[in-house]
Amino acid sequence: GDDKDGYYKHRVGEVLGGRYQVQHALGKGMFSGVVRAMDVETKKLVAIKIMRNNDALKKGGFTEIAILEKLNESDPDDRRHVVKFERSFEFRGHLCMVFEHLGYNLREILKKYGLNVGITLKATKAYAYQIFVALAHMRKCNIIHADLKPDNILVNENHTILKICDLGTAIDRSDAATAQTTITPYLVSRFYRAPEVILGIPYDYGVDVWSIGCTLFELYTGKILFTGDSNNQMLKAIMEVRGRITPKLYKRGQLSPQHFDEKGQFVSIERDKILGKTTARTLQIIKPTRDIRTRLAAVSSGLSEAETRDLNNFIDLLDHCLALNPEKRIKPLDALKHPFFSAAKSSHSHSHSARR
Ligand code: ATP
Ligand code: MG
Ligand code: MG
Repeated sequence: GDDKDGYYKHRVGEVLGGRYQVQHALGKGMFSGVVRAMDVETKKLVAIKIMRNNDALKKGGFTEIAILEKLNESDPDDRRHVVKFERSFEFRGHLCMVFEHLGYNLREILKKYGLNVGITLKATKAYAYQIFVALAHMRKCNIIHADLKPDNILVNENHTILKICDLGTAIDRSDAATAQTTITPYLVSRFYRAPEVILGIPYDYGVDVWSIGCTLFELYTGKILFTGDSNNQMLKAIMEVRGRITPKLYKRGQLSPQHFDEKGQFVSIERDKILGKTTARTLQIIKPTRDIRTRLAAVSSGLSEAETRDLNNFIDLLDHCLALNPEKRIKPLDALKHPFFSAAKSSHSHSHSARR
């Protein structure tokens, strides 16, 4: 049966699609419930994404499948770090997608090994490299993921191999219907949303690079880089870290008048959570007050000379991922050539032990 929101209520041991025996829930998203199951034909574990029973979501599911097939078919040797989709079937009105089974998402890894402190720079680097390989692959296939965040990045049981998942909101730019991106200020989960999306500037592949900049900071520090309860408060948080958004940039945005007054001052719209009142006040943001270097230095103490060099390279890479101007943002292929990945390679362990 279904619950009131159209999620399928699975039972342990039941068989879906004639061969997948359900073991337990792996996760629940806005669009689906995901269960772990045993493929009785191959004796291998799989993850099955059971879409909510809803026509609009089902249609979205078919787009997700088309994009997954495109990404998988152009990576026959499974070297590009995108989750493998096996097949789909329908079960009691639910579209079900079968995937290779992976162990955990990066949100769970952070909770388990680095709550509030993050994982080591070495582990961050190993994950970052694989993420940029996936991004370069998606770019080559003209796919914008549009929902990158720790929850949608999976690692295998021994934590070494990483795969990008959840192409449920991805956009295929080579598909005539979605070749032109439309202004959608709620694209990408809020904390990982690039400024051009918020401002209503035509966006592109760069939105994924922004999300990954946020994600990598979070992996290393255990803290979310930018938070806010609205797009307006996200802009405030972004400017406090990255400096002001220049008139030249925000003037290109259809939605900028919601955030900047005629004099070009940022208008902060704050909501009182208890009284429910909103107040608007203009703020002059000139110099960043919470820049990345200071925040990373604050969580890295007692580093050797080599580790300091590594950290500086990491800061430089983040700086290029988080360029306010999307045209200036680093491209995945260039990120793979960044000194963070090439300078002074030490051993290749992927220890998750928290740093402090
Ligand atoms: P969202 O609300 O983020 O859009 P969604 O409904 O689109 O979520 P997914 O993000 O695809 O669903 O999957 C939800 C969760 O299920 C993931 O965050 C992950 O923890 C787990 N999951 C998904 N696929 C797999 C897999 N192949 N192996 C293991 N766990 C998985
Ligand atoms: Mg998801
Ligand atoms: Mg999704």
